[in-house]
Amino acid sequence: MAIRFYAACLASYNNGVLHGAWIDAESDVDAMQEQVNAMLRKSRFPNVTVDCVDCGGDGVEPAPALDAQGRVPVCETCKGACKVPSAEEFAIHDSEGLPRSFGEFCGLQAIADYVEFVEEVEEATGRDGEEAEELARAMLDNWHDIDSARSELDNFCGVYDSFREYADESADEVIACHSADGKAPQFLINYFDYESYARDLSHEMTALDLSDGVAVFHQ
Ligand SMILES: [Zn+2]
Repeated sequence: MAIRFYAACLASYNNGVLHGAWIDAESDVDAMQEQVNAMLRKSRFPNVTVDCVDCGGDGVEPAPALDAQGRVPVCETCKGACKVPSAEEFAIHDSEGLPRSFGEFCGLQAIADYVEFVEEVEEATGRDGEEAEELARAMLDNWHDIDSARSELDNFCGVYDSFREYADESADEVIACHSADGKAPQFLINYFDYESYARDLSHEMTALDLSDGVAVFHQ
């Protein structure tokens, strides 16, 4: 999955300096937060102090090997201070694969939830990779929040070249139901008003445009 975002240090940004990092989106908030924090600690414009991650905040290297003089080595990162300077805030200044509605301050939890939703879309629809991401984005654009979009997965009918293709298939099934051998009789096909059927059906369905067709959902 290639969903990622650019976390920009706001203190740097406010000082006219570009500082940030591309972070791969994943379902684990803590893993993303760690990468963002590492970026913020490298900021040239720190405005807070945070625990040193390299020594866990105790100023001593983890599992220290004693040096030649038999002393416990001091943490190189914080020089024994246990704290390091860091910038505090970030904003999302660019992204790939995230819905446009997410904006600069959507938060890491929303990104993690979205990654999970894409996985659910893959499972429920059989589309994968970028095809699943495109469908997930279209669903979120249409139903606005993940919980609403998620509940629509139960109503997914499939992806068709056009809504008309879906409607025609549906019409053939309806006609076939009225024949003994389960096949649509030709005389009914000849006189059936496919266009009108498709028009009526479109009021009962949701069709979302994709690059390879339309995703059709029951309402
Ligand atoms: Zn340290």
